[in-house]
Amino acid sequence: MRLVTFEFQGRTRLGALQDGRVVDLNRGYAVLLATGGVVDFQGQADRDLPANMLGFLEAWNVSLPKAKDVLAFARDVQRDDPVAQAIWHPSQAVRLRAPILNPRKIICLGLNYRDHAKETKQEIPPEPALFSKYATAIIGPDDPILLPSVSREVDYEAELAFIVARRGRHISKSQALDYVAGYTVFHDVSARDYQIRKPGGQWMLGKTFDTFAPMGPALVTQEDLPDPHVLDIRMMVNGETLQSSNTRNLVFTVQDIVAYCSHVFTLEPGDVIATGTPGGVGFARKPPRFLKEGDVAVAEVQGIGALRNPVRKAPR
Ligand code: MG
Repeated sequence: MRLVTFEFQGRTRLGALQDGRVVDLNRGYAVLLATGGVVDFQGQADRDLPANMLGFLEAWNVSLPKAKDVLAFARDVQRDDPVAQAIWHPSQAVRLRAPILNPRKIICLGLNYRDHAKETKQEIPPEPALFSKYATAIIGPDDPILLPSVSREVDYEAELAFIVARRGRHISKSQALDYVAGYTVFHDVSARDYQIRKPGGQWMLGKTFDTFAPMGPALVTQEDLPDPHVLDIRMMVNGETLQSSNTRNLVFTVQDIVAYCSHVFTLEPGDVIATGTPGGVGFARKPPRFLKEGDVAVAEVQGIGALRNPVRKAPR
């Protein structure tokens, strides 16, 4: 299933992409309940299949099968049926947002591809190297990445991210994938001057300017993407391929990361974990290639899709 957060007529809703259209899952489920004679159909739909991604993930074991029922129902609804207008929209009529707008955590890995560690002249870390971003950095497909006036070194990083479905602590590697809802494309935009040359040696500051966490276009559930470690990944800027690799080159796998993180803190539904970027980043190039106004960055992961973001100067 390809889950999306979308905006239609000013409202932000949860949907799934199906046959070139966006099915409103909460509304679809309410229609199903109403036709089944349930009196409090909207209240029941809001409990079983919430209209936002975080609520959907928190009710994962209930909401996922309900969402499948809705998609089976929506597939049979004819275009001229009045029910169709209530539950689905042509995909060009909606604006896709980031799949999840309000995760409790955005966790990122550094130096998780060998060629990227090498180009930055750093050793492969013996354990995952973690940092985080704030949710204020999240933007969706086609939203502009805003270059802050204080940085001269804003760089691109294409990444595979996974999104947590279930709350857990001390999760074993063998059970790790049971805690994963699915995958999305993540762009770890990075102001190198703030990441590398600020006091304390921490990376977070350069990673969490507003608009520095583009995500999308969809959350592709595990059943549609059973092996996250066989996917081509690339970054194109203005049509030029600057990063090209495959997730088989990850140093720490999704299972490694779930186990490692959950021995330190509780993983919660909706947590976003970006798995790191392959070689080819801008600051390691000679000469360096940083993002500039007018660029268009497209991060792409096989089986998920392309995440396109234009680059603009931030208003002061
Ligand atoms: Mg990164």
